[in-house]
Amino acid sequence: MTRIAFIGLGNMGAGMAANQAKAGHTVLAFDLSAGALKRAAEAGCTPVGSVRDAVMNAEVVITMLPAGQHVRSVYAEEIVGHSQAGALVIDCSTIDVDSARFVAALAVGSGLRAADAPVSGGTAAADAGSLAFMVGCEAKDFAAVEAALTPMARVVIHAGASGAGQAAKICNNMLLGISMIGTCEAFALADKLGLEADRFFEIASKSSGQCWSLTTYCPVEGIGPATPADRGYEGGFATAMMLKDLKLAQEAAAKAGASTPLGAQAEALYALFANQGYAQRDFSAVLPWLSGQTETLKKD
Ligand code: NAD
Repeated sequence: MTRIAFIGLGNMGAGMAANQAKAGHTVLAFDLSAGALKRAAEAGCTPVGSVRDAVMNAEVVITMLPAGQHVRSVYAEEIVGHSQAGALVIDCSTIDVDSARFVAALAVGSGLRAADAPVSGGTAAADAGSLAFMVGCEAKDFAAVEAALTPMARVVIHAGASGAGQAAKICNNMLLGISMIGTCEAFALADKLGLEADRFFEIASKSSGQCWSLTTYCPVEGIGPATPADRGYEGGFATAMMLKDLKLAQEAAAKAGASTPLGAQAEALYALFANQGYAQRDFSAVLPWLSGQTETLKKD
C-alpha cells in the first residue's frame, strides 16, 4: 500500500484518484473545489485541506490540473520543498513541454524523482482505469512510475527523458486533429458527389484512406462503432480540448522551428468552430458544420 497525494479531482482526476483508492492505496486528495473533495471522499479517498497537507506524508504525488500555469505554481509553491525526500512526483495534466521540463528540473533539483505522464483517453477511460500514459522521465525511474500509474492504466509507455511524454501527447493529438478534419472533408465531398456514406465507409476502411478517425471514431451517425456522432456529438472529446492541444503543438513547433502547416490549419479551423458556439461539442462535429448541416447541432 502506497500513500499517494492526488491534486486536481476534476473530470479526469476524480476517476483516477478513485481507482488508486480501489487498488488499496491511501489517497490524500486535494482540490480547490469543495464539491470535488466531497466526491473524492465518497470514492474512498481521504480529503485534506491543502496541497501541502497532501504531499508532506506521501511517497507518490500525482497532479491532474487544467494547464501549465497551474502546474508551475502548484509545483513551485506547494510541492517542491514540502514533499518527502525522494518522493516520486508525476504530472498527468496536458501542458506545454517547457513547463513540464521546468517543473521536473525544479523537483529533481530538490531531491525528488519526477515524470510527466499525460494521458490518452477521456473521462470514461479515467473512470474505468483504462488510460494510456506516455511518460517522460529518467530511465532509472520508469519502473516506479509504471507501478504508480498501473491502477489507472491500460498501458504505460516510456517516451523518453523529461518532457517527452508531453511531446508525444501533442504530436499524437495534432495528428488526430488533422486526420479528423480530413475524414470529415472526405465524407462531405462523398455526399456532394452522390456517394452513400456507408459505401464510402466500407471502401475507405479497406483502402489507403483508413485511419482511426474513420474506423474507430467515425463522424457520421449510424456508421461504424458507436461514437459521439450517434448522440448528437455530445460527450467524447470536446472541441475546446482539441483546440488546447493544437495550440500547444503550434507553440512547440514555433519554438522548435518545426514546419507544421496542416497542424496550423487544424488549429485555425477548430478555433473558428469553437468561436461559432461549438466549443463543447465533440471534435468530430466538424462534419455537419463543414456540410452546412448545423440545424440540429446544439450550441454551447
Ligand atoms: P478539470 O478542469 O475538470 O479539472 C481540473 C481540476 O483541477 C479542477 O477540479 C480544479 O478545481 C482543480 N485545480 C485547479 N487549480 C488547482 C490547485 N491550485 N490546487 C488544487 N486543485 C486545483 O479538467 P480535466 O478535464 O480533469 O483535465 C485535467 C487535465 O487533463 C487537463 O490538462 C486536460 O487537458 C487533460 N486531459 C483531459 C481529458 C478530458 O477528456 N477531460 C483527456 C485527456 C487529458
